[in-house]
Amino acid sequence: MPTSTTLPPARRGRGLAVVTALVAFLAALGLSSAPPASAATWPVLRSGSIGAEVTAAQHLLTARGHATGADGAFGPATDSAVRAFQSGAGIAVDGVVGSGTWSALVVTVRSGDSGPAVQAAQVLLNKHGAGIGVDGAFGPGTDAAVRSFQSANGLASDGIVGPATWQSLAGAGGGGGGGGDWAPIIPRDNLPRSAYGAPHHTYPALDLPTATGVPAYAITGGTATAMSNDRCGNGVSLSAGGATYLYCHFDSHAFSGTRTVAAGELLGRTGNTGNSTGPHLHFQVTVDGSLRCPQALVLAVYDGVAPPAPSSLPTSGCVG
Ligand SMILES: [Zn+2]
Repeated sequence: MPTSTTLPPARRGRGLAVVTALVAFLAALGLSSAPPASAATWPVLRSGSIGAEVTAAQHLLTARGHATGADGAFGPATDSAVRAFQSGAGIAVDGVVGSGTWSALVVTVRSGDSGPAVQAAQVLLNKHGAGIGVDGAFGPGTDAAVRSFQSANGLASDGIVGPATWQSLAGAGGGGGGGGDWAPIIPRDNLPRSAYGAPHHTYPALDLPTATGVPAYAITGGTATAMSNDRCGNGVSLSAGGATYLYCHFDSHAFSGTRTVAAGELLGRTGNTGNSTGPHLHFQVTVDGSLRCPQALVLAVYDGVAPPAPSSLPTSGCVG
């Protein structure tokens, strides 16, 4: 888990710059590296903002009845949804998600809950390195991630995402250290850690020996295209940050065509389609036209530490 001293990328905007300054100030005073909940400040989001906080706000707008695509980019449709929400909630209609709008927007969620408000919490937990699936189901993995986040941030560790936890999740840095948000490609508890370090049989790639029907998630946010061919079977190609991630042998796609996805969004369910001799998930990464060894990347995501840049992944050494 990253510590609360992790600095947010500059692109996260003015609100977080204030948080960053405050955290630096507290650190300079020699106060705890885990600031109390009162240190968190809501980020201020407006047209043009991007990042995990925007994705979370979009899920929350959907949860509040203003369905909005959760692509992490605050465009005209998000602006319209924010204004409609503000109007309905009796808040000044300015299209800016500041403290008043955030406070009205968040929904308290806990174990057993499901839906877009849970997805919003999962997106923000991943911003802080939780590495969980954004499936909208508040199960044991999400509960553990919430409690861990709470105890690391001076909050009562009750597993309930209420106003103080939302504020801390949205406002207190994070970012995964890599300038982006990352999530495991299958549920973390599905396979042991060693499975992510195994060599591939023929060329740089990774085969995860999962059963049929296991959810497969976007490793990071990007543009995902569902495809099918004789080799890959039912697969998804995900373009993000100059890299292309290919998932193969799905039993079923979660969608057809092309869409923008956030880290942890469901792409499909694993299976045995295409050139495959048994149920498994084939995963490969291409940067600059070369296949890269994905092992170091998926292991970092599994461990919840800052992943290496995909362009730094080796092109050999993972075949055996
Ligand atoms: Zn393979």
